[in-house]
Amino acid sequence: MSNPSLLILPGDGIGPEVMAEVRKIVDWFGAKRDLVFDVSEDLVGGSAYDKHGTPLHDDTMEKAQQVDAVLLGAVGGPKYDNLDFSVKPERGLLRLRKEMDLFSNLRPAQCFDALADFSSLKKDVVAGLDIMIVRELTSGIYFGEPRGIIEEGNERVGINTQRYTESEIARVARSAFELARKRGNKVCSMEKANVMESGILWRDVVTEVHQAEYADVELSHMYADAGAMQLCRWPKQFDVIVTDNLFGDILSDMAAMLTGSLGMLPSASLGVPMANGRPKALYEPVHGSAPDIAGQGKANPIACVLSFAMALRYSFDQGTEADRLEQAVEKVLADGLRTADLLGEEGVTPVSTSEMGDAIVAALTASL
Ligand code: NAD
Repeated sequence: MSNPSLLILPGDGIGPEVMAEVRKIVDWFGAKRDLVFDVSEDLVGGSAYDKHGTPLHDDTMEKAQQVDAVLLGAVGGPKYDNLDFSVKPERGLLRLRKEMDLFSNLRPAQCFDALADFSSLKKDVVAGLDIMIVRELTSGIYFGEPRGIIEEGNERVGINTQRYTESEIARVARSAFELARKRGNKVCSMEKANVMESGILWRDVVTEVHQAEYADVELSHMYADAGAMQLCRWPKQFDVIVTDNLFGDILSDMAAMLTGSLGMLPSASLGVPMANGRPKALYEPVHGSAPDIAGQGKANPIACVLSFAMALRYSFDQGTEADRLEQAVEKVLADGLRTADLLGEEGVTPVSTSEMGDAIVAALTASL
């Protein structure tokens, strides 16, 4: 069997800095766990524009379609703010998501005990929290037609359309149920079936898929507004939440901030399975290129490291090794190591990006 393949796209700003730490970890798994990846690296975003005049070269797109998983740092920066919309760094990322048809966006909200004080909620509400929001990413109100701003009588009217087909709902529901089986085996589906026809269809289709294929998974339904309240009140009641593009956009940001810093948040976007059974997959931290701290060794690499842990779990079926990596992160945080974004306690001196990466590698080695 050939090695699993990984395309690394560091991107701009702090992207290359945090990705350098992930490379150390990828190498560690090759050397110590016999888990060797065929790694290739390429440009995306502003760095690709500088070299090729486009934020994603066709060859890079082609490579992304071929590999088992893509790991991306971040794109963008003030240098590119005045470029034409069609070649802005973000277009590179959007093209990847669109052409790989990544319809299922996974955003975990996980709270490491050592960082529970960073949440705006009470410590006992968030300590040990581990939930996953699955957001439909390629349809719904952000894409539905008709859309636009039209003149009607003597005023303007803004129009967007919420539209979902059964197959679009079914595939993201399957993705959530599959995920739940690898976690706590519970799915809560959120919509507004009380006021939206698309919500009624959503609830019907999720229920049908559940009954036909995933009856072993516990399923509940909740209106999205009630879900928002419950996420603040007692988030630990959830395991996997599945919802549409619009509600998912809002609920995943809210859930993510339950846990504190942007420098800690990973994500995955998955598509349909390829011939080898692995889903098309893009893993990336939630944060951007942080131009305010780029090049200063201040970036927290953990969001990117945890994105690689998600790749281990969801693309490479290496759940035990993903646990090992997450536990290594937990260990360095419990030991008191903090990058500058995680400071809060008195008298703590921040570590640099590479010191944090080295500490995670050392914790991995200590786990053997
Ligand atoms: P940002 O996420 O880059 O930064 C927001 C704040 O969080 C900044 O103060 C930054 O220093 C801090 N921060 C972010 N990641 C951090 C980390 N790993 N460690 C420590 N601190 C961290 O968002 P922004 O400032 O709104 O955007 C900056 C650029 O990034 C823009 O060009 C934007 O378009 C782009 N962006 C890209 C993505 C992406 O690549 N997926 C996402 C969001 C923004």
